[in-house]
Amino acid sequence: MQECVLCEEYITNPLCPECIGAQIKTWLLEAKPELIDLLDLETSKLSQHLFNKNFCISCKKDMDVCSYCYTEHVLEWLEDKLSKELLSDFVKFFHYDFHRKGYFEKARVKGLI
Ligand SMILES: [Zn+2]
Ligand SMILES: [Zn+2]
Repeated sequence: MQECVLCEEYITNPLCPECIGAQIKTWLLEAKPELIDLLDLETSKLSQHLFNKNFCISCKKDMDVCSYCYTEHVLEWLEDKLSKELLSDFVKFFHYDFHRKGYFEKARVKGLI
């Protein structure tokens, strides 16, 4: 087990950006289908496969960025693209902020949750 290249925390729940992105795309199909192709672009930014440190438990591909950093990146990217209701759903469905001290707390302060 190795650390995430962005936050340098150990990756305890290795699910790669592509696998989480696939779940988010399924949700976007209902919520905002025009963002699906753009999400692929955002996902690819965080799936560089430079260090090959960890392996995703789902697809077994190597990954460098943790699920927290990926979903935080997507949340920031979505912030001006979705309504408050949809952003609220996103945080509820896809947050990997298990300690609820990062973006989950920020979303709470903003009244999203
Ligand atoms: Zn991270
Ligand atoms: Zn994967």
